Amino acid sequence: MTERPTLEVQRVRHEVKRRSLQVRKVTRLAPRMVRVTLGGDDMEDFVSASFDDHVKVFFPASTPDAEPAKRDFTPRRYDNARRELEIEFVLHGEGPATEWAAAAQVGDALEIGGPRGSFVIPVEFDHHVLLGDESALPAIARRLEELAGRARVTALVEVDGDADRVALPQGEGLAVHWISRQQGSLLDAVRALPLPAGETYYWAAGESAAVRAIHQHLVHERGVDKKRIRASSYWRRGAVAVHETFEE
Ligand SMILES: Cc1cc2nc3c(=O)[nH]c(=O)nc-3n(C[C@H](O)[C@H](O)[C@H](O)COP(=O)(O)OP(=O)(O)OC[C@H]3O[C@@H](n4cnc5c(N)ncnc54)[C@H](O)[C@@H]3O)c2cc1C
Repeated sequence: MTERPTLEVQRVRHEVKRRSLQVRKVTRLAPRMVRVTLGGDDMEDFVSASFDDHVKVFFPASTPDAEPAKRDFTPRRYDNARRELEIEFVLHGEGPATEWAAAAQVGDALEIGGPRGSFVIPVEFDHHVLLGDESALPAIARRLEELAGRARVTALVEVDGDADRVALPQGEGLAVHWISRQQGSLLDAVRALPLPAGETYYWAAGESAAVRAIHQHLVHERGVDKKRIRASSYWRRGAVAVHETFEE
């Protein structure tokens, strides 16, 4: 009998390097989402082992003597041969990252650092549940691409409205449900979700209070093993540059 492949998550460290890149292309995916394709020779040895990785992005300050603002973003896609990295930005209004992305033009310079490490969740689970808002969409899209044809996936994505939906991989075993904020919340959708049978891994990211509530619900009301959940805040209402992972 063949052994079931291990379902243990793995942490991988990477050498941290700062890379200077330039904008090669800007693509509007939705009214509030823009993909920026960055390029440069520094991308030659870039590594990102997990969809859940982030790079630190340094946004130039408006005055040369001030420090750049640092924010975390998902490496949505990268290609060492083409020396390219794609990052998808939510255009949420105010903040150095969103303002930079809204105005990004071919030729603009941008520095990134990392990823410092990766949290690798095996693809071998029977079922993957992916939960998030717009800020988690790049990670969810990357994960759907990785899992297509290999595992069953249920993704619940909360967005403002129908115009905010972006194209995601489709196929057998991939179920994507969109939740418009006017109609309900991600937490309500999770409450109504029948838990899949089999070995399941739950991944959630988005606004801090929402993700914390989802984590609590899964652990305390649905009895999901904490080791089968990775729940991270990607931003917090009224705060800047927040990144937390909920364990309890
Ligand atoms: C591991 C990780 C990966 C991430 N990947 C991505 C990604 O691929 N794409 C992406 O767009 N974001 C991603 N984020 C979230 C992003 O880092 C934050 O949204 C960040 O705060 C944006 O910086 P800013 O300069 O635009 O706004 P800030 O200066 O940080 O915040 C200004 C104001 O905007 C609010 N705000 C911040 N983000 C949002 C938002 N998404 N929606 C509504 N209001 C917001 C804040 O509460 C604050 O009031 C990721 C975060 C983490 C931790």
